[in-house]
Amino acid sequence: MGLLSLGTPLSWPETKALADHVREHGITQFLHTWDRWAGRKGEPLLWGDEIEYIVVSLLDEKKRASLSLRQSEILEELKNVVGDLCDEQPEKSMVIPTFHPEYGMYMLESTPGCPIGPHLKDLVSVEANMRFRRKLARSHLRPNEVPMTITSFPRLGVTDKPFTDPECMSVADSPASQSLFVGKGVTNPHARFPTLTGNIRSRRGSKVAINVPIYKDTNTPSPFVDPSIPYDRQLWPGDSEAKNGAAKPDHIYMDAMAFGMGCCCLQITFQAFNVNEARRMYDALVPVAPIMLALTACSPAFRGYLADVDARWNVIAGSVDDRTEEERGLKPLQHDKYRIPKSRYDSVDCYIANDSRNKAKFNDIECPINDDVFQRLRAYGIDEALAKHIAHLFIRDPLVIFSERVDQDDEDSMDHFENIQSTNWQTIRFKPPPPNSSIAWRVEFRSMEVQLTDFENAAFSVFIVLLTRAILSFNLNFYMPISQVRDTQTTSPCSHVDNLLSRLMRICNELRNEMPRVNRSSTSEDGRSTSPNGFRTSSDSTENNSSVPHSASTASFNLDSDSKCPSPMSSHFEADDETEEMSLDELINGKGEFPGLLGVVNAYVNSLNVDVSTKCDIRKYLNLIKERAAGKLVTPATWIRNFIISHPEYRHDSVVSEVINYDLLKAIDEMWVLI
Ligand code: ADP
Ligand code: MG
Ligand code: MG
Ligand code: MG
Ligand code: MG
Ligand code: MG
Repeated sequence: MGLLSLGTPLSWPETKALADHVREHGITQFLHTWDRWAGRKGEPLLWGDEIEYIVVSLLDEKKRASLSLRQSEILEELKNVVGDLCDEQPEKSMVIPTFHPEYGMYMLESTPGCPIGPHLKDLVSVEANMRFRRKLARSHLRPNEVPMTITSFPRLGVTDKPFTDPECMSVADSPASQSLFVGKGVTNPHARFPTLTGNIRSRRGSKVAINVPIYKDTNTPSPFVDPSIPYDRQLWPGDSEAKNGAAKPDHIYMDAMAFGMGCCCLQITFQAFNVNEARRMYDALVPVAPIMLALTACSPAFRGYLADVDARWNVIAGSVDDRTEEERGLKPLQHDKYRIPKSRYDSVDCYIANDSRNKAKFNDIECPINDDVFQRLRAYGIDEALAKHIAHLFIRDPLVIFSERVDQDDEDSMDHFENIQSTNWQTIRFKPPPPNSSIAWRVEFRSMEVQLTDFENAAFSVFIVLLTRAILSFNLNFYMPISQVRDTQTTSPCSHVDNLLSRLMRICNELRNEMPRVNRSSTSEDGRSTSPNGFRTSSDSTENNSSVPHSASTASFNLDSDSKCPSPMSSHFEADDETEEMSLDELINGKGEFPGLLGVVNAYVNSLNVDVSTKCDIRKYLNLIKERAAGKLVTPATWIRNFIISHPEYRHDSVVSEVINYDLLKAIDEMWVLI
């Protein structure tokens, strides 16, 4: 979560009444930023990760692992510690990490403290930074508390036993969510979070309803009708929803924002050379997002049951789905303006680059836009692709408005813009520069699940950053029909048991054709000239903007400008739009002439003149990606699932009991002794 504005939150009817005000001023604020940054370029690659943790309290005598609800105290303590460290070592203050609040009262978020630089040695320093952050957090917790990087807590919301520390089993106390399963104690009490929760429910007109298919084991009843749901509770108006069909048979039913926003992820943000580079990068990463979700899958259990999915995606999308029945297409439009196919939390709906390779046919899904916003942006001179992107974000209502923040200086604030932007939770986010700051245009990669160890978290961060460098150097794009990206995003989390190898994914031939072949020869195949840093630029570089940014922004990675082994681009053969299904292994490790995403990254790394030790570090990380895609190393989701299924107490009924959960989290904690 970004900055928490302070103040008095308005009720839902008051918020709704100010929606047009927020949207209008949000666009004014964006246009001021646009003007301020017009023509600016030359920003260096700076990047950073965000890691989210669940603080687990291990109660050995009870054999219980609970969620420790102490975020506020822990953050206060860490703030003092970080302050002390800065005083003691002012020269090192730049690398002292920061910790941030998150939705769950049992969560923490950490970032490196200052963005990481562009050199390969900076890249490999991220693991040490991540380990330092974890150590810092852990050493300021109680002896029985552990910050764990697990995506979903398997027993959040069970009704048979307490799952929090302190035990706040009472669920009668959450007017915001009206959940049958989680009380208000699990949500950060800062006004933003309960208000988000309550306003999503009010706007939607009912509680959110998340149904994840249950993993059917030999002793799981069929149909599975969850006996743990208090169907007949009568405390809140929403209580009858489960009984009246919101809870589907053969599914794990969840009814609150906490089930999704209480999951942990790994996000990477990087700064682009200029706005056009940010837009190209955004587009290139859109099809990569579902692939990385599948590779990092880490959440096979929800609300005390094993699920038939491996990742959080559909849970989190459902957990903030504020669309009304009209918007969801269940009733004809009468009070609302748009039919909206997706939740606010979902895959990207349109490509945004101002690039002739971004063809209309790839933007093949329904993408409603706010027409007033679109016309206004176009009239101001914003091109169609970007205007459409923003006009699409601006079909949404603001969810939280603080009365003190209604009137703002639009030249000096991006608050109204960010209000809409930061509640459009898509797989990739295009981040405009904040006001009064040197931070420039950035792109955020948001689909990955957090990994159990920092080695893995570092490996995936390094891979994504290197992939962006390779994309820029080779001028790649992976355009494919965005409907296929959407379909892969919603199905890729469902990859349990048969392991990831067998997951077939679609990818368009253009990907295949535009990737460089892995070829160490310095002679190009067709004799076209190479760019100043030794890389060939795309043969049909049809972008509207200069290709100079590529070399400029990657030059810093290129430690020796006389790089000896540039990787020539393959020639472009006739691309058609036939799609080809590939396994994760093929997508990452290649197939025939198609080098795979890792092949592209390898070609890039090989082209750099880097010292052996740094190269070895990078190889270690890339090897994890390679082996996991090949199915030789399992995902954390598979590891967790196998642990549960082979536990002596497991009854093959899909239930993750208190003892199994305790042993699982204990085993994850003990892993740290070994690594
Ligand atoms: P949010 O929650 O809004 O996504 P955070 O502030 O939690 O954002 O995290 C942003 C990440 O971006 C951090 O890792 C931070 O180090 C990194 N970062 C900060 N400044 C820059 C910059 N100029 N360019 C790229 N990344 C940056
Ligand atoms: Mg976060
Ligand atoms: Mg953050
Ligand atoms: Mg955020
Ligand atoms: Mg989160
Ligand atoms: Mg983020």
